Amino acid sequence: MNLFNLFCKFSIIIIFGLINGEIFDMKDDKVWKDKLSDEEYFVTRCSGTEPPFTGKYYKHKEKGTYNCNCCKQPLFSSDVKYDSGSGWPSFWDSIDQKNIKTKDDYSLGYKRIEIMCANCEAHLGHVFEDGPNPTGLRYCVNSLSLDFNKKESK
Ligand SMILES: [Zn+2]
Repeated sequence: MNLFNLFCKFSIIIIFGLINGEIFDMKDDKVWKDKLSDEEYFVTRCSGTEPPFTGKYYKHKEKGTYNCNCCKQPLFSSDVKYDSGSGWPSFWDSIDQKNIKTKDDYSLGYKRIEIMCANCEAHLGHVFEDGPNPTGLRYCVNSLSLDFNKKESK
């Protein structure tokens, strides 16, 4: 864990060094350290994973929108949430593909596709191709990366 944290700090310092001026705030490690809990920080800014079956949104069934926990950009609707049995909140589609960035991830020795918030680059989880129709996709997301916004009743 300590080595991992160290690694995370270094990569953030490198990113920090590469970015200038305007978009600086989103990449400022200190900003996120202050805004997020230790667990949220570990998952969203260090590509961590919360233990399965523990997240607050795993069995969450209310109607509304799941936003990025860091920058509040809308990511997933409750309409496409389903129980995949994986232990993490799962969605078969995103609100808008433009809101999600993907990256190949070989950290476990095989290829997975990491998903990130396109706005602030928060780590969300991974997307797999074993989801239900019509997309066949399974967006497997950490609860700690999400902030639920309940739909107002009309
Ligand atoms: Zn974000």
